[in-house]
Amino acid sequence: MTDRLLLGTWPTPLEPLPRLAAHLGTEPDALLLKRDDLTGLGAGGNKVRKLEPLLAEATAQGADLLVTSGAAQSNHARITAAAAARLGLDCVLVLWGDPPAEARGNLLLDALAGAELVWVGDGDTEAVVAQVAAERRTAGRSPYVVPYGGSSPLSATGYVRCAEELQAQVPDLDLVVTAVGSGGTMAGLVAGLGADRVLGVDTGAVPDAAAAVEGLLAGMGVAHGALRIDGDRVGDGYSTVGDEVRSALRLVARTEGVFLDPIYTGRAAAGLVAALNGPDGVPGRRVVLLHSGGLPGLLARDDVL
Ligand SMILES: *Cc1c(COP(=O)(O)O)cnc(C)c1O
Repeated sequence: MTDRLLLGTWPTPLEPLPRLAAHLGTEPDALLLKRDDLTGLGAGGNKVRKLEPLLAEATAQGADLLVTSGAAQSNHARITAAAAARLGLDCVLVLWGDPPAEARGNLLLDALAGAELVWVGDGDTEAVVAQVAAERRTAGRSPYVVPYGGSSPLSATGYVRCAEELQAQVPDLDLVVTAVGSGGTMAGLVAGLGADRVLGVDTGAVPDAAAAVEGLLAGMGVAHGALRIDGDRVGDGYSTVGDEVRSALRLVARTEGVFLDPIYTGRAAAGLVAALNGPDGVPGRRVVLLHSGGLPGLLARDDVL
């Protein structure tokens, strides 16, 4: 592996959630929040950890342009645009669908960071990414394609580092709850902590979350036990907000003054609440909720209240 490229601010804080714990009927020190929304670069979020190893490879290869893809409100696309700016590279974001009337949330930040946007309509996103990279290469550029969601066996090593931070911050950690999108975050945590200490909450970002995480772990050469994935929080689909997530967003904001996002961390919090009603809620267990970021996406919505 190439040398570490530092893009974020490490380690991220770990905070107690005593009022949320009381509300959920657990002991005050049973619940903790890993603040990976405070990773620094580009308004923060989990993609900073995943981009560090990828962009070390990109710069070692002499890339002058990053190309990646995602939803219009992709946090990954926004943080990639910010990382490109930080490294003095250009950035093309290939986004699903058509441009909205107003650039809000992540799209506003993408534009501020100077990213070029390519909208695919209902076309094949991966094909457009390959086409953009090929065209730019022909034009004399050196593009580096960052995979969807920034997830690959290489980038998941960024979350092995997070697992190491957590072991140092909470030596008696029993469980980490994380949202699962493209899977790299969960894969890295499982590699670092073992499958029985990680609960992934599926967001519906990929058709088969377990297969995505398993594929990444296989690529990392990590043997692991049975994955724990909560598949019951997807609701009507990835980009929708259901009542369970709405109430999780309100609950965490009103007990702890912490804002979650509707797609990922709101689902993770709903999964945490459900898990505490089962064996994970027994006294004496220490449970960490991973705050993986996403606030700009929340601010682009008008269906959260
Ligand atoms: C991308 C993202 C996730 C999911 O991470 P993966 O590694 O893609 O599974 C979780 N939370 C937020 C806020 C994200 O932007």
